[in-house]
Amino acid sequence: MNIDFYNPVKILSGKNCFRDFRDYAKFGKKAVIVCGKNSARLCGALSDAENGLREAGIGYTVFDRVEPNPFVSTCREGGREARRFGADFVIGIGGGSPLDAAKAVAAFAANPDFEPEDIYTKARVPALPFLAVNTTAGTGSEVTPYSIMTVPSIENKKSFAGDDLYAKLAFLDPSYTLSLPVGQTYSTAVDALCHAVEGYFMKKANPVSDALAEKCIPMICGGMRGVLAGDLGYENRERLLYASTLAGMVISRTGTGFVHSTGYMLTYYHGLSHGHANAYFLADFVEFMSRENPERAKKIFGLCGVKGSEELWELLGACPAMPLSSVITPEEASAYAARTITVKNVGNAVSVITEPELLDILRRRCI
Ligand code: NAP
Ligand code: ZN
Repeated sequence: MNIDFYNPVKILSGKNCFRDFRDYAKFGKKAVIVCGKNSARLCGALSDAENGLREAGIGYTVFDRVEPNPFVSTCREGGREARRFGADFVIGIGGGSPLDAAKAVAAFAANPDFEPEDIYTKARVPALPFLAVNTTAGTGSEVTPYSIMTVPSIENKKSFAGDDLYAKLAFLDPSYTLSLPVGQTYSTAVDALCHAVEGYFMKKANPVSDALAEKCIPMICGGMRGVLAGDLGYENRERLLYASTLAGMVISRTGTGFVHSTGYMLTYYHGLSHGHANAYFLADFVEFMSRENPERAKKIFGLCGVKGSEELWELLGACPAMPLSSVITPEEASAYAARTITVKNVGNAVSVITEPELLDILRRRCI
């Protein structure tokens, strides 16, 4: 038995855990705050950061140009600004997009000569320290060593990883997620569910990642059912946020599978949100895994509170804000299946899907 596990992120959780934080000096004298255009302001986290930094005597600048599914070029630009400002550390505020961008900004700032795509190929000086402040409950980026960016030259999203990308501190204040609209609340929860479930069927899953997955899956599905019943209150937000972080710990050990790899195509070419894109494939992923791993699949269905893959499909597609309607042509389906099958992650699952099997799923669910 193997219980190897590494997740060196200090987590602070609960209402006002970030608003009241002042202990910045150990990370340096100057910070760059990385966020999107609106949400960091809207939810109050940006002004909490600015007040806290001012009171702690830390200089700061704000890079607020991170788009959803951030471009690698945007992150390099943020890295340059951080470098010009002389930032010692990076605070990412947002959903997975600003958090992943903040990791990349921290890496580009430490490697100022890098062209955007060098981040994927060249050895690097370790990234600046990075603190994460969540405003969505889904990606788990606050506890993973991955940063996923959009790379136009390969017409896809691509991740880079490293122990230097783990956040030094992750702040989980559910209040910041209260402003997230219902559709995004649901689709980010679906993303978290995908992390826990895909992670359960990866070769690197072990008793530690299994325990985390088994804990968080009922929390996420309970939270999703709550959202469907109109519960967007603090306690349900808290349940979804904490569960999504546990699911992030799962993938920090295991990585993700074909659900994510195929989902990236729907995001890149069709503009679907990350969680929504993944939602198309999760039920069939478990169904596929059930052929060779029936006991583990049965366990997953039980944890989700469903009888089988069709009920799971209904739960994933139940939210009116994220209709699972027709999105791609048959030609696109063939191209996406062919490309996905070559992705390394897909081969890291306990059962490896073939191109015709994946094409069958794409045809059934997306056309
Ligand atoms: P997101 O792309 O960060 O945000 C989606 C939208 O929600 C944006 O318009 C954002 O506005 C808005 N928003 C965020 N928080 C809000 C709030 N509290 N109130 C109102 N609006 C809010 O969404 P996400 O699903 O969290 O992140 C997806 C990204 O994470 C993808 O790029 C995906 O590849 C990545 N990801 C990373 C990992 C990892 O391990 N690193 C794992 C899974 C996914 P603003 O633009 O104004 O911020
Ligand atoms: Zn994801």
